[in-house]
Amino acid sequence: MKVPLVDLKSQYQELKEEIDAAVLGVLESGMYASADNVRLLEEEIAASCGVKYGVAMNSGTDALKIGLQAMGIQSGDEVITTPFTFVATIEAIIQNGGRPVFVDIDPHTFNMDVSRLKGAITGKTKAILPIHLFGQMAEMEAIMEIAANNNLSVLEDAAQAIGSTRNRLPCGSWGRAAALSFFPTKNLGAAGDAGMLITNDDGVAERARSLRVHGMGRQQYHYDYIGHTSRLDEIQAAVLRCKFQKLAQWNELRNAHADIYSKRLEDSQIRTPRVQPKTTYHTYHQYTVRHSNRDAFMAYLREHGVASAVYYPMPLHVQPAYTYLGYREGDFPESERACKEVLSLPIQAHLTTEQVEYAADVAMHFAEERATV
Ligand SMILES: *Cc1c(COP(=O)(O)O)cnc(C)c1O
Repeated sequence: MKVPLVDLKSQYQELKEEIDAAVLGVLESGMYASADNVRLLEEEIAASCGVKYGVAMNSGTDALKIGLQAMGIQSGDEVITTPFTFVATIEAIIQNGGRPVFVDIDPHTFNMDVSRLKGAITGKTKAILPIHLFGQMAEMEAIMEIAANNNLSVLEDAAQAIGSTRNRLPCGSWGRAAALSFFPTKNLGAAGDAGMLITNDDGVAERARSLRVHGMGRQQYHYDYIGHTSRLDEIQAAVLRCKFQKLAQWNELRNAHADIYSKRLEDSQIRTPRVQPKTTYHTYHQYTVRHSNRDAFMAYLREHGVASAVYYPMPLHVQPAYTYLGYREGDFPESERACKEVLSLPIQAHLTTEQVEYAADVAMHFAEERATV
């Protein structure tokens, strides 16, 4: 049996009729940018995340970058985040002239270790950028309290987490703003690059709308800010509106798959994801386990037809591009250890129960063989 990590063709097949009709509708309308599909998608996503505004952009990276700019981050400002994330998180800080300040992760959730947060705040700190990694929300109660006490803004990197909640409150509704990604492989994926900034803040929403079209003001060809070109295409918005109808169901399927893995691997040497309080809804963008002999585990899975991937093999503080920040190997031991031990197993909605059971059995056999040698 073959168990792939991502299979975007099956996702398309499930909705082929609707997506084809929606895309042809856009082509025939002659309205390719900033029209009804984009506006409706913004309204639908914002409502589902419990916020007032959605500002669609052409990637999650742009939503982070423009989000920080709209929140007033500028040259010399420090923004606290973790080194165990996708590189876009810190590009957004640096491309605004800011400086990422890292804190280590909690080894059980891979999210920011909030007990280290206060110690990272300096006179230059302006914002906190927590990541809801792999689809599980960061400890937002503690983060929001520390932010409020220190007068800091919070931008949530919710690129992997649309639909996840904590104490019934959706991701994206906690911070001053949040960035979503609709890259094709995300839980809600377009047929190309796409993203959205969501916020309750009137000023952030207004500035972000302007910044995505060159910083244009209310009057055409009059500019209030130095901006970007980051509109979302109508075709992408049309595809996303079709798939968004299925997102809750797809996230439930991911949870059902996760239950299969977690039950089968419970007593093995493979460490399964720990879901923080019972009130947390994890959307399993990735089902990420840990094993001390990760590379052998990965090879074994591959030999048996089960795909897997390492998110992420190297923490950001030791990446060649970012050595200028002055960090060294050893500075963030939990992030470094995670990079050596993590492995993500197939979890997408379009797998059958049989495929997931097979993958879980292969993983269990590996653990058993290892345990007896
Ligand atoms: C995917 C991702 C992004 C960037 O989103 P794009 O749409 O690919 O630009 C940012 N942060 C995290 C954690 C991501 O996983």
